[in-house]
Amino acid sequence: MEGIIFNIKKFAIHDGPGIRTSVFFKGCSLKCRWCHNPESINPKIETYISTEKISNKVFKIKKEIGYKIEAEKLYKEIIKEKLFMEESNGGVTLTGGEPLLQAHFAAQFLQLCKKDDIHTVIDTAGNVPFENIKLILPYSDLFLYDIKFFDSEEHRKYTGVNNNLILNNFKRIVENKKKIIVRIPLIPFINMNIIAMKQIREFLIPLKGENFHEIELLPYHHTGNSKYSKFDIENKMEGVKEPDIKEIIPIKDFFKKAGFNVTIN
Ligand code: SF4
Repeated sequence: MEGIIFNIKKFAIHDGPGIRTSVFFKGCSLKCRWCHNPESINPKIETYISTEKISNKVFKIKKEIGYKIEAEKLYKEIIKEKLFMEESNGGVTLTGGEPLLQAHFAAQFLQLCKKDDIHTVIDTAGNVPFENIKLILPYSDLFLYDIKFFDSEEHRKYTGVNNNLILNNFKRIVENKKKIIVRIPLIPFINMNIIAMKQIREFLIPLKGENFHEIELLPYHHTGNSKYSKFDIENKMEGVKEPDIKEIIPIKDFFKKAGFNVTIN
């Protein structure tokens, strides 16, 4: 089975435990204003014109974002790093984009990884039918699950969709006793306020348990900015500053007080 991905990043250290190979899937059902991979949102392979300067000459080069790959071939590619994964207690992370939009392909790939005892992480925004999640559940060791808002209207305003499915799927993964870490992006002027954080905390507290007690805070950063001009996409976060650590620590403490293990990524 073939899927469409747009990058394979080796030696990744921010997408789960240890040293990992992260596979970036093309396509996402959200359009977050702060997305730092805007080239991932369209599920199709896209072409764009890149301007390159070589020895003072400017060249316009046609490039493609995304390519098709078979699960078997992807597996052969990632297995090359198995030694680093084992030595560091790392593994493979499916990210994107939204990996669970290509759930059959993801399940086939993960199944191959699990046959080789490779630790698997799914980095997801959760806005997919639960049937998609069910397909990959047997082959997933850990979910990194984004929660941006509890308030559905706010969620729709800033991501384009409501969060009913996202919150329900989260509960169902917890019920299935899968290990899950919640990731909360901290976006200035959008969700970085006491009301939004309080609502998320109240939603999470009753679900806390053996398999879910960790939260990662992901402060907004500028690394995706250059991509907006490169891919000619409007950057709605133009001029927004990255939050200061002094603003992040009180949020960390706020979740810690409720008994969560909290890290800042
Ligand atoms: S869910 Fe992630 S990949 Fe999708 S638009 Fe939002 S930030 Fe981008």
